[in-house]
Amino acid sequence: MELEAHLRSKQLTGKTKLRRRQNMKRGKSYLKHIDPVELSDEGQEVEQASSNSTPPVFPFTTKCRPRQFPDSSIPFIDSHCHIDYLFVRERHFGTFKSFVESKDFPKNFSGCVANFCDPPAWGPNQMYEDILAEDGVWGAFGLHPHNASLWSEKVKNDLIQACRHSKCVALGEMGLDLGRKTSSKTSSAIISVQKRAFTDQILLGLEMKKPFIIHGRGAEKMTFEILKENVPIEHKIHFHCYGGDLQTAKRMIDHFPNMFIGVTGLLTYPSASKIREVVKHLPLERLLVETDAPFMRPKNAAVVDADSPKISSPGMGLLVAVKLAEVKKIEIDNVLIQIRKNVSKMYDI
Ligand SMILES: [Zn+2]
Ligand SMILES: [Zn+2]
Repeated sequence: MELEAHLRSKQLTGKTKLRRRQNMKRGKSYLKHIDPVELSDEGQEVEQASSNSTPPVFPFTTKCRPRQFPDSSIPFIDSHCHIDYLFVRERHFGTFKSFVESKDFPKNFSGCVANFCDPPAWGPNQMYEDILAEDGVWGAFGLHPHNASLWSEKVKNDLIQACRHSKCVALGEMGLDLGRKTSSKTSSAIISVQKRAFTDQILLGLEMKKPFIIHGRGAEKMTFEILKENVPIEHKIHFHCYGGDLQTAKRMIDHFPNMFIGVTGLLTYPSASKIREVVKHLPLERLLVETDAPFMRPKNAAVVDADSPKISSPGMGLLVAVKLAEVKKIEIDNVLIQIRKNVSKMYDI
């Protein structure tokens, strides 16, 4: 399998590179995603991780700079990132493996779930096919609420096709976004468009029996209401980059026994006391660590690469885990053991 991936990586032909360059030309529209939110505060409580260890699997060779990352042998998988956006921002034309090897990644980095949430990324012969051909990379496809107005029969058919990929582990990210880019004047019109794309995708994902990755920024309660109305309680859900309050998070995980709350670099922001409260009070068994790379760069990340001081990459999820361990007062290795189990439970990987 590894040899096969290696051979494939050698086959990054001129055709593939040309395709990537074309994707990058579309880059501007390809990059209208998210940026950090403001949050508020308080909290406490501790959950202990179980100590059964997971066998290490490291498909990547990394530079391992212990000054930035803790020296752990517990495999770490970034549960949510955007490799297509990352490559566009970094102007990287090679494989993910070569990206990992050329950048600062922790030595226990074991892979990531790459979300593709723009319709241009789903058509045939797109970058995702090369990315998902590599070891240690799994995929998810879904229409981001920022792109909800693009929802159409064609987009839906392309999405169905992409979700049939053998390494597609979930449908998403999808949901609602009432972030600061949405003015109150236009919000009701925008929300109704987002709701339609969201509920259509929920039905699609239920038909395809795919777990869900949910984006509900600034609209956590409304997103929960839609999930409650449309999704069976046992369904697997990753509520990614959670920025809501503790009460809503608790209500959601109580209602959905297989829901996980995703924690990003936001946890490290001085203003994000509300998310630290959420992390303190929720059981570790219900949390996932993610980067949302290239966004949400953790504040505790060292500037190793002067060309990209503001970009996060999937290895930085380990720094989110470090902060999470600090907030919950749990040993980092125990955190890593448990969140690896959570990734396995959520994505079957
Ligand atoms: Zn998102
Ligand atoms: Zn995302």
